Amino acid sequence: MTSEEFRQNGRAMVDWIAEYFERIETFPVLSQVEPGQTRAALPPEPPTSGESFDAILGDVEKTILPGITHWQSPNFFAFFPANTSEPSILGEMLAACFGVQGMLWATSPACTELETHVLDWMVKMLALPESFLSSTAGGGVIQDSASSSNLCALLAARERASNYTTNVHGNDRRLIAYTSTHAHSSVEKAAMIAGIGRERLCLIAVDDDFAMRPDALAAQIAEDKHKGLIPFFVCATVGTTSSNALDPLPEIGSICRAQNLWLHVDAAMCGTAALCPEFRFIHDGIEFADSYCFDPHKWMFTNVDCSCLYVADRKGLIQTLSVLPEYLKNNATASGAVIDYRDWHIPLGRRFRSLKLWFVIRHYGIEGLRFHLRRHVELTRMFAGWLRQDERFEIMAPIPLNLICFRHRKGDEANLKLLERINYDGRIYLTHTKLNNRVTLRFCVGQNHTESRHVEQAWKHIQRRADEIDLES
Ligand code: PLP
Repeated sequence: MTSEEFRQNGRAMVDWIAEYFERIETFPVLSQVEPGQTRAALPPEPPTSGESFDAILGDVEKTILPGITHWQSPNFFAFFPANTSEPSILGEMLAACFGVQGMLWATSPACTELETHVLDWMVKMLALPESFLSSTAGGGVIQDSASSSNLCALLAARERASNYTTNVHGNDRRLIAYTSTHAHSSVEKAAMIAGIGRERLCLIAVDDDFAMRPDALAAQIAEDKHKGLIPFFVCATVGTTSSNALDPLPEIGSICRAQNLWLHVDAAMCGTAALCPEFRFIHDGIEFADSYCFDPHKWMFTNVDCSCLYVADRKGLIQTLSVLPEYLKNNATASGAVIDYRDWHIPLGRRFRSLKLWFVIRHYGIEGLRFHLRRHVELTRMFAGWLRQDERFEIMAPIPLNLICFRHRKGDEANLKLLERINYDGRIYLTHTKLNNRVTLRFCVGQNHTESRHVEQAWKHIQRRADEIDLES
């Protein structure tokens, strides 16, 4: 592609993206294709000769678009959001342009230093403990996902507990970790990958609000110690995936401190809320954390992938993950004056992810970001108000921020049918969970362009589908 062709095609691409956002509400939110339909529309063999950009973009429209579930639609209320924004897309474009692989400081100093700088900004923006700043013994790193962040925290905790011998000799089968029954599945996966094993990840009971019970945690730790096991790690969640429950960090943190256990805090979606001073209660007790993660790729307008992991002791994390072959040795590393992020996560190679986060922060500013988060929480409260007035529904969990868990009083089958009807024509998209073993619908507000009219329309749509179910039974 010549420079001139690149300019032309690039303009066409940006036009296509801008137009996509303008017409996004015309698409069914949940893709309507059948399994295999996208592949069936693709040629079985790759092209022998190069094709024109117009032909490629034409196939995006014809073949790819129908198979897209529109996560950026203002009518997307499913799971947790994975919102993006125009500045994030432009930052990502630039990351692709440089195409740097920032494994070492030397392989692109700006890739490392911008990341360190932006992550220090985020500590201040979220009012996180100063121990996470790079100017102290701690620091932050961008990972691909909260799943990876949780895994790295668990690995570092495992190494600290074994005095950094596990990497050499393999796991001590007496190590045992804790999280709540409502923690994200990635914690279980981390235990599997880290060689702790599912059986040595103890799931602690939750209270009526689905938050971890510190008394149950303390009792379990005492029992396990009595059995000769070695408790070493607790993962608390700020904003559980099912219901946005907030584990009580002050109490859990005190237990961890007293027992010398590593406390990791997974605030994958909710952490972003701490940009607003009035929502910082979610982080009460965060000073006890040895590590903490949140995902700008969920609720901070930064496209997937971008998860920020902080540790209070970066030496421990680096010692856990460091391997230095001859071919990576260089003067800057040897000087000890630079950060080499290759030692802070699992892959060696790494993308220039901080660019998009930097673009987002600079474009919106802290006040701009707060404006959107406050709007989302306000819209959620508005929806909750309507729900409370409709006697057919009950609210199943507290609503600290932007997620409502509710259900029709008619039982599990009616709720599953209702969900299917709600999602059927693609007007909006909701997902479900189970709370206290009862099917529960989740309504999460977090898209960049969701306005009150979208939430109002969604509520009317849900009510109409509920009317149908009432008429049928
Ligand atoms: N932790 C929590 C609390 C989550 O809600 C999620 C995903 O929704 C994750 C971890 C995993 O996130 P990721 O997709 O970034 O791995």
